[in-house]
Amino acid sequence: MNQTPDQLHADQMADTVAFPVLSAAELEECAEFGTRCSFAAGEDLFRAGAQPFDCYVILSGEVSIIDVLTDEPTYLVRLRGGQFTGDIDLFTGRRAAASCEAISQVEAIRISSDKVREMLVRQPTLGARIWRAFQRRRELLMATDFQGLSVYGAEDDKRTLETVEFLFRNGVPHHWMNIAEEENATRIREIAGDDLHYPMIACGKRLLFRSPGLTQLAEAIGVRHRIPEKTYDVIVLGSGPSGLGAAICAASEGLSTLVLDGLGPGGQAGSSSKIENYAGFPNGVTGRELAQLSYLQALKFGAEFVAPCHVTELKRGDGLYQVRTSEGDVAISKTVILATGVSYRLLDVEGSNDLLASGVYYNATAVEARMCKNWPVHVIGGGNSAGQAAMFLTQYARKVTLVVRGSDLRKSMSSYLCDRVAANPEIEVRYHTQVTAIEGTEHIKAVHLRDDVGNVAREETTGVFIFIGARPRTDFLPAEVARDDKGFALTGSAVAKLERWKEQRLPEVLETSLPGVFASGDCRSGTTKRVAFAIGDGALAVSCVHNFLGTYPI
Ligand SMILES: Cc1cc2nc3c(=O)[nH]c(=O)nc-3n(C[C@H](O)[C@H](O)[C@H](O)COP(=O)(O)OP(=O)(O)OC[C@H]3O[C@@H](n4cnc5c(N)ncnc54)[C@H](O)[C@@H]3O)c2cc1C
Repeated sequence: MNQTPDQLHADQMADTVAFPVLSAAELEECAEFGTRCSFAAGEDLFRAGAQPFDCYVILSGEVSIIDVLTDEPTYLVRLRGGQFTGDIDLFTGRRAAASCEAISQVEAIRISSDKVREMLVRQPTLGARIWRAFQRRRELLMATDFQGLSVYGAEDDKRTLETVEFLFRNGVPHHWMNIAEEENATRIREIAGDDLHYPMIACGKRLLFRSPGLTQLAEAIGVRHRIPEKTYDVIVLGSGPSGLGAAICAASEGLSTLVLDGLGPGGQAGSSSKIENYAGFPNGVTGRELAQLSYLQALKFGAEFVAPCHVTELKRGDGLYQVRTSEGDVAISKTVILATGVSYRLLDVEGSNDLLASGVYYNATAVEARMCKNWPVHVIGGGNSAGQAAMFLTQYARKVTLVVRGSDLRKSMSSYLCDRVAANPEIEVRYHTQVTAIEGTEHIKAVHLRDDVGNVAREETTGVFIFIGARPRTDFLPAEVARDDKGFALTGSAVAKLERWKEQRLPEVLETSLPGVFASGDCRSGTTKRVAFAIGDGALAVSCVHNFLGTYPI
């Protein structure tokens, strides 16, 4: 061992939010949910990798939590009478990240994860204390030198980035070892020799995988990726803001809820560096933080998450829905909420990824616009969203250049908007032109534009706003789910007008033309593509589910 139990992180142990001591009355409340057990000194309460694992409330004696994934096992924390083991992985269903060993004779109460969840709901004051402790412990763990997984790879390697994103979204402790740094490149060669296929996944000096698939990685680290065999009240497809909003409402209102996502919680919002227009966060919140908090909230109420899980088919039969995945699983439910969002077409030119949110934007709200006050900006695209953005940005920027590939805006933009753009002296429309590069280090400096005859111009700018199209992720849906001409799912009043709606009742406001299937957020026709809207839409979809199932809570 690197240390003895007496040489633990003293500052962490002093954190009374992470490691509270429960009162005698609280210990009695805990006893209602578990069973008494005892351990001799040196015995394991649980081992790292255990799945599932239980929570232990220590009544007497002491235990230590040990990181056994390091090259040398390391003591992390010591817990004594009145304290308890566990962290958020009790709810994610993942393997235990560390081991727990009795230092002396221990008397404890063992509580299963289901019972801990029940305790959180039935004993809200105690529950809030325990939940805050679990959250804080994870924060502390990530802030220390807790090893977790090391992912070696380069920042321009798509598979490395996807792996890091997958681990991040699913809250798996890890470190990304960018091999552009000589120290990391040398270290992985010491571990794996010259047979390098990125991403390389290691634990300390132990090589686990050379370029694993996400499913293989999920299996190894215990991220839940297989679908349980049961019939759910509702399956939510997608865990962006809308799917998360739906999952929190559905699970908190007693519906058995399964959430499936190709990568994990977050959606597009996960790539937003700061969301400033969401209620309750006057200083803004990063998309990742909002997604992680929402994910935890949904877990707390018992929503089950499965990832990676690509939905490829939705079918109705015998009054139930079958959702098939490319991983070969089938999920069954009484209702389905589609929250699969959109894929924005990304501008694939040099510099565009590096400067995302640092001058390269895929939306134009007052937040981005303020940063461009009195400076020139460029808007890329010829559709309505580009036209609206250009008009809006003239209120802030010194000059707006609208960069259009074609020769006529009227082919892609509403005529009223074309007239406004043409009449606005602050907007210059540059036809037959494409972006070839974006220049800058910490923030954008200039954009390179090439016209049809090959002339390239470098223009200084403070913002490039990209609106080159978004495609709803609805391709996998059956023909029974009617969509608009762009592929967004139709719902409610739009469905009521369709001949194919044969029910004796009107469709619920977010119901698609396939009864019992609801759509929310960006994938739904006519929605405002915003986080707040998507979350609210998710909640509204759940109220439609209740109406459909006849389970509306009073
Ligand atoms: C860079 C960026 C910045 C933004 N900034 C802001 C902002 O500041 N404020 C604001 O209000 N809005 C912002 N937006 C818009 C906002 O993020 C979206 O409106 C919102 O994320 C939509 O949520 P959603 O849940 O409907 O869809 P998404 O966020 O697109 O989530 C859909 C989810 O479904 C999953 N999925 C899709 N298809 C499948 C499938 N077949 N199988 C399994 N899973 C699937 C995806 O993996 C994804 O996780 C921003 C968007 C971007 C791209």
